[in-house]
Amino acid sequence: MIVLSGASLVLPDRVLSPGTLVIEDGRIADVRSDAPSGGHTAFAFHGHYIVPGFIDVHVHGVDGVDSLDARPDNDAIAAIAARLLRYGVTAFCPTTVACAPDALRRVLDQVRRARETPAARSARVLPAHLESNFINPEYNGAQPSGCLRSPRAALGSGTESSAKALAERSDYTAAQIVAEIERAAPDVGIVTLASELDGGLDLIRWLVSRGHRVSLGHSAATYDEALAGIAAGARHATHLFNRMPPLSHRAPGLAGAVLQTDEVAAEIICDGFHVHPALIRMAIAAKRPSRILAITDATAAAGLPVGSRAFLGGQVITAGESTALLPDGTIAGSVLTMDRAFQTLVGTVGLSLVDAATICATTPARELGLVGHGVLAPEAVADLVVLDANFSVVQTYLAGQLVYARALKSI
Ligand SMILES: [Zn+2]
Repeated sequence: MIVLSGASLVLPDRVLSPGTLVIEDGRIADVRSDAPSGGHTAFAFHGHYIVPGFIDVHVHGVDGVDSLDARPDNDAIAAIAARLLRYGVTAFCPTTVACAPDALRRVLDQVRRARETPAARSARVLPAHLESNFINPEYNGAQPSGCLRSPRAALGSGTESSAKALAERSDYTAAQIVAEIERAAPDVGIVTLASELDGGLDLIRWLVSRGHRVSLGHSAATYDEALAGIAAGARHATHLFNRMPPLSHRAPGLAGAVLQTDEVAAEIICDGFHVHPALIRMAIAAKRPSRILAITDATAAAGLPVGSRAFLGGQVITAGESTALLPDGTIAGSVLTMDRAFQTLVGTVGLSLVDAATICATTPARELGLVGHGVLAPEAVADLVVLDANFSVVQTYLAGQLVYARALKSI
């Protein structure tokens, strides 16, 4: 039995301060306001906060490691899983940019291995998030345009002519990408695509029928096109407001459709730069914290000093002050980590601790079907993070085991 006492506990409906967590067999056995006496392993955390472990459903890399790192004998997914604990992340969806079938196979094999045989002292590896080959070339951002393919060609029902309209390269087909998704189906969680592309709705229906979670993003969808995608089964939106047409009062577009449709949960990059804090506040007000997921969209440049070079799907990126950048200045994902996302939500955005924890842990857990995760409550899995008064990570626990600790003097 482990007893963590003295901290402010961020519970699903209130902050209990001070509170005590009793952990037994990897789960939270009790949440109480008094400290039990007895011969337990006890830690006193006066002046600290305990929140559920952060769950990031959109992260490409961190600390110099990219999910698509192709160096031989390098297990990028395992490396990312080990590094994320220091940022308070206890579970994550390894995320890829549009890539070739062999690269996709390599990363999905790594995801399967990490899930079958979880490494010690590593965040839980969830099924991958593919920012797929089936996004709109006009809104590709840092996704390599040569990798984009037509949804119409993906399911074998169309000719390759529409694919060629999207990309001149013929080194692989859309059908080969779909075959890799099919081959690794249990390890493919979220698939981001643009519903307005030719064949987009058929591809959504096919993916949903195979148990994948379809996310609308990197898309030029109008309001009506987005609603058609939702009707076809899309239930998620990829980095709301980024890489989609701006919200306009006469043309609400994809962003407007997501904001007003309760079935769809929306990711937001919570660094205060990708989306203005005012828009983060508005989106949360429109959809409530139970429908918003804080994400980092972090690249391998996250955690590195400004000016450091790293890779994103084989492309060179540089760590900037606020984002990662391609050599031509295009924003290429973020340098955000989940501890800073939480700090931004509580600080700049002005959320309550309960709402910030909901957006960083509870909602992603529920949306991904992780029963018993993402909350501090009796019976829940004891994945949790101890934060200091500045909301910096002091300790991270996975199933009640201490898996990361900052230098002891700071406790
Ligand atoms: Zn991304």
